[in-house]
Amino acid sequence: MSTYSWQRMQRLPRAELRALQDHLLQRYVREQLYPFSPWYRDVFDRAGVRPEQIRSVDDLRRLPLSTKRDLLPTADDPQRFKRFILQPDPDSIRKAWPLAKKLPLLWTKWTKGVEAVRKLVKHQYAPCFMTFTTGRSAEPVPFFYSPADIQNLHTTGTRLVDVMALPGDYRIANVFPYAPHLAFWQVFFAGQATDMMVLSTGGGKVMGSSGDLRAIARLRADSLIGVPGYVYHLLRRAAGEGLDLSSIRCVVLGAEKVPPGLKAKIVDLLAACGANDVRVFGTYGFTEARMAFAECPTPDNAYTGYHLYPDLAIFEVIDPKTGEVVPDGQDGELVFTPLQARASTVFRYRTGDLVRGGLRWDPCPHCGRTVPRISSDLTRESSLKDLQLLKVKGTLVNLEDCAMLLGNMKEVEEWQIELRKKDDDPLEVDELVVHLAVRQGCAEATAEANVREAFKSRLEVMPNHVEFLGLESMLRKIGMETEMKERRFVDSRPRT
Ligand SMILES: [Zn+2]
Repeated sequence: MSTYSWQRMQRLPRAELRALQDHLLQRYVREQLYPFSPWYRDVFDRAGVRPEQIRSVDDLRRLPLSTKRDLLPTADDPQRFKRFILQPDPDSIRKAWPLAKKLPLLWTKWTKGVEAVRKLVKHQYAPCFMTFTTGRSAEPVPFFYSPADIQNLHTTGTRLVDVMALPGDYRIANVFPYAPHLAFWQVFFAGQATDMMVLSTGGGKVMGSSGDLRAIARLRADSLIGVPGYVYHLLRRAAGEGLDLSSIRCVVLGAEKVPPGLKAKIVDLLAACGANDVRVFGTYGFTEARMAFAECPTPDNAYTGYHLYPDLAIFEVIDPKTGEVVPDGQDGELVFTPLQARASTVFRYRTGDLVRGGLRWDPCPHCGRTVPRISSDLTRESSLKDLQLLKVKGTLVNLEDCAMLLGNMKEVEEWQIELRKKDDDPLEVDELVVHLAVRQGCAEATAEANVREAFKSRLEVMPNHVEFLGLESMLRKIGMETEMKERRFVDSRPRT
């Protein structure tokens, strides 16, 4: 049952996919999670749930949710992340595994000796690679992969390429920053698994935009892959310089939310560089999942939703206030449960990512796949951290809404929002400052009036100042080529 090929799995009816998930979940809890995870054994015991009681996806509701906070160090346990690593030993394996699962190990022991068995176990469980969570407020938490988990990155890499229908002879320019973060490595391992030609430039921080653009043009890349803000910046520059990027057929965006309207802007910029009929895809992944999911292609670059892998993970959508699971298609927070994970393992894990339109099980109207899909209208928790909701002049302002508003305005090329105290006096009132670089040919006065109007009507707060900068100075201000993430929100209020 667990051996459906990906090709077959994507066409199975929902009932069969659910049966597959029930089966894999039962086995995962009994044979991996409960016996080998110090953290989750404790969670089960404290909740009074026996591993045998988890027989189906619905039974997950018996267990408490995990949160990012669980992974953070405490005074008693400065290395708490270690308790999330699966840690089998000969005794726990003997007790937890049924004979059929133990037989291959016993056979290896008889025929090749104990050392060969140790090697097999090491391949499954021993940490050999790590990435970090990218939170801004908390210490980064390390996430470990075993060789088997790395193999999984190959599997999900192959599936990403399949969902996006990228031909095997494509040349890929990967402009994600070199970093111990999932996005870069998922692309790297996808290339390894599919024998595609991948050039990883390391992004603007390593070679600068002009270096990146020269490399992309020289490679005659078919596909450009990176963070939405940086890809947009690169293409705007290419269009400005009249660069020939006519070889590009697709753009893949990852690591952050893909704002509505961005796909169309990218298509326009590429058309100015000679590239026509370009596909633009959003992808979704996060450190703790150690895998990523993609949209499928459509002629008009629709937001098709992220196509999931039912044999590798279960997603639930919950009401973030009550923690209750909501029905299909309803808004809520994504909760992740892996089905094959080794090394660092979370379970029923609150991602903090909010999805409008939830989880869907109807066949994809574009590609016909029957695997569940997460709506593309997703707000990443990482983009909200620290500055999620701010009280500005007594009004609660959602900065994500500000980002959407400014990102969609046609007069606005780049922007930054700064919070200051009036006259830098900690006792004074808050001031909201919008820094803008306007699009060529747009009058600053018009842009200011439109921004003020949009803030007033949609956010019920007015910026105290709108300040203008040239595009180059603005790019330096937001750290386009020097920072891992663009600085879109700056809190300059003195700390009290
Ligand atoms: Zn599809």
